[in-house]
Amino acid sequence: MPAIKVTRMFNQELTKRFVELNKLEELSALLEELLQENQNLTTELRHVEDREERFRQIAENVREVFFMISAETDEILYISPAYEEVWGRTCESLYEDPVSWLSAIHPEDSFKALATLETQFRTGDEFQEEYRIVRPDNSIRWVWVRAFPIRDTEGKVHRFVGIAEDITKRKKAEQALRESEEQFRLTFELAPIGMAITTLDGKFQKVNQALCDALDYSSDELLQLSFAHISHPEDWELHQSLEKKLAAGEESAFQIEKRHIAKNGRIVDTILKVVIVRNSQGKPLHFNNQIVDITERKQMERQLIHDALHDSLTGLPNRALFTDRLEHELIRAKNQSDYLFAVLFLDLDRFKVVNDSVGHLIGDKLLVEIARRLETCVNPTDTVARLGGDEFTILLENITDISAATKIAQKIYQALTIPFHIEGYEIFTSASIGIALSSQGYEQPEDILRDADLTMYTAKEQGKARYEVFDSSLHVHAIKRLKLETDLRKALEREEFLVYYQPIASLSKGTLAGFEALVRWQHPTRGLISPSEFIPITEETGLIVPLGKWLLKKACQQLRSWQIKYPEHSSLKISVNLSGKQLREASLIDTIDKILQETGLEGQFLKLEITESLLIKNLEVVTNTLLSLRERKIQLSIDDFGTGYSSLSYLHRFPIDTIKIDRSFINEIKSEKDNSIVKTIVSLAHMLNMDVIAEGIENSWQMSQLKLLNCEHGQGYFFAQPLNNEEAEKLIASSPQWG
Ligand code: C2E
Ligand code: MG
Ligand code: MG
Repeated sequence: MPAIKVTRMFNQELTKRFVELNKLEELSALLEELLQENQNLTTELRHVEDREERFRQIAENVREVFFMISAETDEILYISPAYEEVWGRTCESLYEDPVSWLSAIHPEDSFKALATLETQFRTGDEFQEEYRIVRPDNSIRWVWVRAFPIRDTEGKVHRFVGIAEDITKRKKAEQALRESEEQFRLTFELAPIGMAITTLDGKFQKVNQALCDALDYSSDELLQLSFAHISHPEDWELHQSLEKKLAAGEESAFQIEKRHIAKNGRIVDTILKVVIVRNSQGKPLHFNNQIVDITERKQMERQLIHDALHDSLTGLPNRALFTDRLEHELIRAKNQSDYLFAVLFLDLDRFKVVNDSVGHLIGDKLLVEIARRLETCVNPTDTVARLGGDEFTILLENITDISAATKIAQKIYQALTIPFHIEGYEIFTSASIGIALSSQGYEQPEDILRDADLTMYTAKEQGKARYEVFDSSLHVHAIKRLKLETDLRKALEREEFLVYYQPIASLSKGTLAGFEALVRWQHPTRGLISPSEFIPITEETGLIVPLGKWLLKKACQQLRSWQIKYPEHSSLKISVNLSGKQLREASLIDTIDKILQETGLEGQFLKLEITESLLIKNLEVVTNTLLSLRERKIQLSIDDFGTGYSSLSYLHRFPIDTIKIDRSFINEIKSEKDNSIVKTIVSLAHMLNMDVIAEGIENSWQMSQLKLLNCEHGQGYFFAQPLNNEEAEKLIASSPQWG
């Protein structure tokens, strides 16, 4: 058997040559090492004293493959039986075909292995190599081959002895380790959140791409930095103190919201989670940091807070924020006796008219532009807020005296005199401003706001487009108004209201055509009060609804009784003013039906007067109401026509019978040249099948002009002032003839 033969040869040669070359110690150590790994052989071999025999036994029994090759012929001189186990081939097959072991090398490794082998044979050097072999069943094993040259007495290498070890298991383990390391590396590298390993003093040791992306740094740049460089100064201290706690072992991890600064200075909101890593002895090694970019979420949060405190239309602070700032100012003023601030309360004049005539969208745009102009009038530290509607407030901080506030009011007044150009409209606007100073010693934000508001109303009453400074007598005014409100409530119960009747004349015939019912308040102490003073209050308080109902009934009753008493005047009509509140009352038609039924007046003798803005403002609600009125033959007049923005052709959409031209236009008629507007209105109204009443005719010239323009009816002091019922009755009885 060649194996035995070769074994013997191996023993002799190996021992001899190694002894010769003083390499025995080396080989012996190697074999002992192998022995350690092959525990089962140890006891058996330990007692074998003979060194040669001991080597032979080892070579024959260990898992490692021993071999010997002739350096001259490449012939395999010896191969140990382990070859069969590792290579999956018989030892005989190798003796028969000495190069068959070469063809067993994995094709991917063969080039390298052969090159090494080639060098070794050429140079006679020791060599070691790892490569894969393919076994006949195509399974793959890794082997680690070491070979040592054996020289003859002349020093020429004539053999190589070597060991081939099956390292497949180790390789697999290494591979697995590599894979899991790779996996970890990939997890770290590709994690969607920022990750970093930092030294105990905060220097970056390892960073991933997500962190680089979040902070706009390259990883090389970051690795030069530490947390101190990229921390928001306000958050750095907390971060440091928590890290100290980790290092001291007080905590093992922490999580905080923290701001970082990106390379370009941008603030990056993050959640920072830090874990300390220790070795097996508990010594701190480094920190593992997770940095989750929450900038977007924070942005949304900030947006939500912003929205809660700002007006969505203009972006200005809203009432809540304004009140909050006011509170701070009040505290400041309290703690600092010479500290002064002012509140400006600003209300646009006639904004409703703009809104009603050009529409809400343009009205909104106007508010936005006004907001921008207001901002240009104040210091950046001052607050311009929108309370809602057309009301703005301004907080002027830390002013020296009242003139600082009036100067700003003046500036605003100037800024608003420039017309606004919005979607082809040129819009003029002005504002009334009330100013209140903190020197009054206010306690609550509402108090100073209330006084500024009150003062604004005075500015409006004084003729609009102006400012007023609060003085405590305004309190008196406010109290007066409050008293008026309570008095008004009582007035209805006490029947303190009176109806006056102002004649309406037919211009063509010069005869009496009807009356407009105008309310008066017979105040127990103040005497007769004009409707312009109390009607707005009754509208605000809702008192207009019962008052209007009372008045309508009274007027219908009166006309009906005159019709009966003076049958020759049975075609007289009564005009009654209707307020917005009444028009929006769902029960209006029922109320009217009931009144007509109770008084016995026919619908055709009743005319209702509403203003154009009122009509446009209540478009949807009103249309049905107007149709129901028409069904009852009740007529509709547009009062004060020309003071709003609507055009006649627009009003034509509604079932309107009469246009009442506002007395401001009639007032203009002083010569023939001045009547062009009235002329246009009259002819347009006629084209649209409406008739016209001229309000406020005060002299015969105006009357004759209107007659020439074919205006049907006239009303005004020229004919008569509003009369009480007795005077009115006398007038009817006298069958007046004018012109
Ligand atoms: P209006 O409906 O336009 O009424 C006409 C107003 O012009 C009346 O004032 C009348 O006295 C005044 N007037 C009449 N002729 C002349 C004139 O030749 N020259 C001048 N300068 N003025 C003249 P009055 O009675 O003070 O009423 C003012 C406003 O109060 C009314 O304007 C109307 O809008 C409202 N009002 C009056 N009574 C009622 C009512 O019963 N209900 C409602 N909702 N509003 C009313
Ligand atoms: Mg009227
Ligand atoms: Mg009028």
